[in-house]
Amino acid sequence: MRALSGIQPTGPFHWGNYFGAIQQYIALQDECDDGSFYFIANLHALTTVREKERLQQYTLDGAIDLLALGLDPNKATLFVQSDVPEVSELCWLLLTGTPMGLLERCVSYKDKLAKGIKADAGLFTYPVLQAADILAYDATVVPVGEDQLQHIEVCRDLAQSFNHHFGETFVLPKGKVLDQSARVPGTDGEKMSKSYNNTLAVFDDVKAQRKQIMRIQTDSRPMEEPKDPAGDVLFDLLKLVASEATLAEWEATYRGGGFGYGDVKKALAEAAETYWGPARERRAEWAAKPGEVREILAAGAVKARQRAGETLCRAQAACGLKGW
Ligand code: ATP
Ligand code: MG
Repeated sequence: MRALSGIQPTGPFHWGNYFGAIQQYIALQDECDDGSFYFIANLHALTTVREKERLQQYTLDGAIDLLALGLDPNKATLFVQSDVPEVSELCWLLLTGTPMGLLERCVSYKDKLAKGIKADAGLFTYPVLQAADILAYDATVVPVGEDQLQHIEVCRDLAQSFNHHFGETFVLPKGKVLDQSARVPGTDGEKMSKSYNNTLAVFDDVKAQRKQIMRIQTDSRPMEEPKDPAGDVLFDLLKLVASEATLAEWEATYRGGGFGYGDVKKALAEAAETYWGPARERRAEWAAKPGEVREILAAGAVKARQRAGETLCRAQAACGLKGW
């Protein structure tokens, strides 16, 4: 088993990123017998972040965040996407065999359009670059949140059709989501997303995090009314960070009624502080040594380029770009 996944430096990482994806990266770095590859997807981010300094900052911050959360460069390969130009070449090979309709059906593109985010060809073809990212490393498993499953299907389609046309070249990957946190809700109840301004950032300071939690939208049912915790945004978030005992208490309180959402928010803020405390301390340590972080990323890129280069050669030979 070999794992591969990427995360965009489009803003501070949030609870959805951690519980949907990063938590899996960390588990898989121990479980994969054939290595794991994780990258900061700055080429993808370029479709969103159009300010040089901000993109640079988010890229380094993203690596620091992953290290603080437990990614171990001695076990996993951590690198920056644009340090592996082979992937962009592979992307072109795949683009030439990508039906427009396949991309037009992609939900995440349609969602962003519906939210008024302007689309360019980069955003439209994003799933193809993502396919190249995955196929370049012969990954067998791709740990992601639910929103990415469709893109992994696109990747499989593209790999299958290339293999069918030019002979066995690519390994077909499978997506992997965690049932309990495949789609973490944001402060507005929609999917928590860096680009939707509805996030709880993992590394916000305590005060900022409290403020964000207080912003979470709740319904206006009377306090006395018993409530079903299932599907309640606050309870869903509490499930991620609270201890079992706290959670059981709140479950009973919901069912009994006679509480205010403000109390749940306070409990959520407290649970969050305890939960993220140790990672916050580790983050401060990594942030104090950016040189070391850059070295880790550079060493990761060397390993990643070697793998991606082998796959690119194989694909180029298969489709007639070599051997003429
Ligand atoms: P953007 O809004 O820029 O697309 P994002 O918040 O969706 O940012 P990505 O960098 O696109 O984050 O995604 C990184 C990983 O986090 C992906 O595997 C994605 O599926 C996962 N992820 C993102 N949001 C959530 C969420 N709310 N719940 C679970 N997983 C999520
Ligand atoms: Mg996203």
